Amino acid sequence: MRVIIAGCGFAGLKLARSLSRQKDIEVLLIDKNNYHQFQPLFYQVATAGLDASNISFPIRKVFQKIRNIRFRITSVQEIKPNENKVVTTIGDFNYDVLVLATGATTNFFGNEKVQSNAFPMKSTSEALALRHHIISNFENALLARTDEELQERMTVLVVGGGPTGVELSGAIAEMRKYILPKDYPELDFSKMKILLVEGSPETLAAMSEKSSKQSQHYLTALGVTVKTNTVVKDYDGTTVTLSTGEIIRTKTLLWAAGIKGNVPAGIDASYIVKGNRIKVDRYNKITGTENIYAIGDIAYMETPKYPHGHPQLANVAINQGKNLAINLKHQVDGNKHLQKEFEYHDKGTMATVGRNLAVVDIPKPKLHLGGWLAWLIWMSVHIVLILGVKNRLQIFINWLYKYFTYDQNLRLIIRNSYREEK
Ligand SMILES: Cc1cc2nc3c(=O)[nH]c(=O)nc-3n(C[C@H](O)[C@H](O)[C@H](O)COP(=O)(O)OP(=O)(O)OC[C@H]3O[C@@H](n4cnc5c(N)ncnc54)[C@H](O)[C@@H]3O)c2cc1C
Repeated sequence: MRVIIAGCGFAGLKLARSLSRQKDIEVLLIDKNNYHQFQPLFYQVATAGLDASNISFPIRKVFQKIRNIRFRITSVQEIKPNENKVVTTIGDFNYDVLVLATGATTNFFGNEKVQSNAFPMKSTSEALALRHHIISNFENALLARTDEELQERMTVLVVGGGPTGVELSGAIAEMRKYILPKDYPELDFSKMKILLVEGSPETLAAMSEKSSKQSQHYLTALGVTVKTNTVVKDYDGTTVTLSTGEIIRTKTLLWAAGIKGNVPAGIDASYIVKGNRIKVDRYNKITGTENIYAIGDIAYMETPKYPHGHPQLANVAINQGKNLAINLKHQVDGNKHLQKEFEYHDKGTMATVGRNLAVVDIPKPKLHLGGWLAWLIWMSVHIVLILGVKNRLQIFINWLYKYFTYDQNLRLIIRNSYREEK
């Protein structure tokens, strides 16, 4: 069986690893990057807490000794289901089974002006671009000629009160508290404003009420102004217009307000549902197809437990990859009757706001944890999930260093000097 897996995120990587060394299964793994990205820690790359290489792992290294898996770095452009063919930037590839695991990208909900001026954080390169902007922004603040210009540089607006927005605002607030005043003694950081804007009535709306309330409380304690029931209507690179009519001037608008599936061309539009996700059955097979599957963020599966689809989380993606691998193996060895429907067992959700400040919800037994203990759990889980022993060690040492010194030392502005000189 020739399997093509498009996308090596949490879902695609798990599937490929589970199909490693399988007799009679040949895998072609495709990704537009040559590395797997650990998205939950993007915000620490963006705020100079971790190096990009700590959270991005070379795909070829994972499969160095695996002979039935080949990797190609390219972008999937189109699927031709009738010809069992995938069209990519480096040519066409034929498959017996195709698995789409292309994840999601930032959703600006059609607001092109916001899209061209805001900073998203959905890839390692975007997290690095954000870091570069944050640091350059304070260098430029030193050159401000008017109070108005200075305030635009000293204001950060984060849009979206989900885990990403909450974690980003908390991390920036900690930079303001512990690092920026030391780096830029000429600037008055009591003037720096950090705002978090959220369309719903609370932050972390997908978590328990206790977690929502606690996260907002933690953010406020860190000096973040939280504006709920508010959406961004417009942003031209300096002026933000909110739905309340309020105008805020900032050079830094971080967009963490929504995602949409990366659906390649060629998928019948009638199978694409809300959030640009592809409708699949309980085996992750795309409705109306015989040999095309979708797993992870891009898949939309209704189950009695999740009638409106699963949450777009790493753990869902990993488990869908695992389940599909078992089912494909049964298809090859002629035990199709042993194939299993996907069922997600939620082990809990968590988010961190800052040093000693996190929230954890555990469904069974129903439990909510906050503060230091939740923060410790959050760190332990992330260390375990990250790929590679070296990365684990480096992240652990980084966090330890940061904990005792209240510092992080990755605030470099690296430019392409060769191009600039030319
Ligand atoms: C900032 C942030 C923080 C998060 N925090 C958490 C968290 O704390 N806990 C949690 O459970 N979840 C978290 N998530 C969500 C989690 O990361 C996703 O649910 C998970 O990554 C989904 O896995 P996936 O394999 O479906 O997609 P992804 O991991 O997004 O992988 C998709 C892969 O497909 C590749 N790709 C995309 N399009 C193409 C194409 N056309 N051709 C070739 N390759 C392509 C991409 O390069 C990528 O490698 C977070 C997400 C973000 C952005």
